[in-house]
Amino acid sequence: MIQNSQDLFKRAQRVIPGGVNSPVRAFRAVGGNPIFMASAKGPYLYDEDNNQYLDFINSWGPMILGHACENVEKAVQDALGNSFSFGAPTRREVEMAELIISMVPSVEKVRMVNSGTEATMSAVRVARGYTGKDKIIKFEGCYHGHGDSFLISAGSGAITLGVPDSPGVTKGVAQDTITVPYNNLEAVKIALEANKGQVAAIILEPVVGNMGLVPPVRGFLPGLRDLCDQEGIVLIFDEVMTGFRLAKGGAQELYNVMPDLTTLGKIIGGGLPVGAYGGRKEIMDCVAPAGPVYQAGTLSGNPIAMAAGYAMLTYLNEHPEVYPYLDNLTSKMVEGMRENLTQLNLDYTINQVGSMFSIFFTSDPVTDFDSAKQSDLALFGQYFNSMLRQGIYLAPSQFETLFVSIALTDKLADQYIAANLAALHEIH
Ligand code: PLP
Repeated sequence: MIQNSQDLFKRAQRVIPGGVNSPVRAFRAVGGNPIFMASAKGPYLYDEDNNQYLDFINSWGPMILGHACENVEKAVQDALGNSFSFGAPTRREVEMAELIISMVPSVEKVRMVNSGTEATMSAVRVARGYTGKDKIIKFEGCYHGHGDSFLISAGSGAITLGVPDSPGVTKGVAQDTITVPYNNLEAVKIALEANKGQVAAIILEPVVGNMGLVPPVRGFLPGLRDLCDQEGIVLIFDEVMTGFRLAKGGAQELYNVMPDLTTLGKIIGGGLPVGAYGGRKEIMDCVAPAGPVYQAGTLSGNPIAMAAGYAMLTYLNEHPEVYPYLDNLTSKMVEGMRENLTQLNLDYTINQVGSMFSIFFTSDPVTDFDSAKQSDLALFGQYFNSMLRQGIYLAPSQFETLFVSIALTDKLADQYIAANLAALHEIH
């Protein structure tokens, strides 16, 4: 029974474009209507009709400790006692910057913003200011938020809705974004040759979550590092998803490749709206008021958001056992899914890095945007809906990764594997 959700969606469509405040929430790619959530605790979401769901979206990544975890909740409550926003520097902002720098290996200075989109937009501006060049290279299927420069061959909700190149982005902006296939170093070299001396930055998700989960092939990240060094280009790792998730220090720690700038979001806010960009001192000192590249924010470093983020990062910093726990539990589910596929004589592709994973309904390896798009999207929709009927809440698009939180237990992982088997049975 989802009557209250249905009623709310009808009302929402009258007053909010498409009835949602972020497109992929609308369930357009999987059929049916979105479910309106009322509360959440641990591994579960509860909707407006009191149905319970085992959650594998986790607010699109931030809730790595599960929903309403006590340390973050308490930190927010304590901070509320001192009022909500001062528009002036606070102690917590300094502590937050110090903590981020201690956790993320390549970051020497960091600026707080309010979303991942702001972080990537700002990082690219700084790279342009620092190098005096205009063009950027991005990879097909990577998503870096909804800034104009990035809505070109974009993954995530953009491709889900069939608009990887959004109307409204001017030709002038688009011509400064060069797109190349992910995991293809040769294509990057060709693009650099064709745009010699004009490229300010290469930006990428070091592990992609926005075309489904796609890992970097061996040599891709170090190869990009070398090319950037040779050409004086700023390498930007967009770790909005992977930061504090794949390791304390994100993908750069896991793969031991250091970018010049890193963009952060999601986990860094503990579930509140926070983003950040940081990196080498020399580059970050171009940012106003230290330098001439302008970037600002009325609510940047907001004390409530800082309290939530600081509590979450502190927990992760002090509990390194979180990462092997998440890796093992996710690997167990992936193994279980693979056994299910074997049992049913099916040959689909599953990608996993740490606590991020995806199933693609194609038997070919998925290593870039073109191969991700080979997945049978109709089958994905049926699979999604079968899982939903069993109380498992997955991302409503093939072009999104799933996330695991530490609130998930071994027993719940078994429940997931059993639901996966039932869903695969049902759709074949
Ligand atoms: N970069 C990546 C890799 C993301 O996955 C996202 C959002 O999903 C963003 C940037 C944009 O972040 P936000 O939605 O907070 O603006």
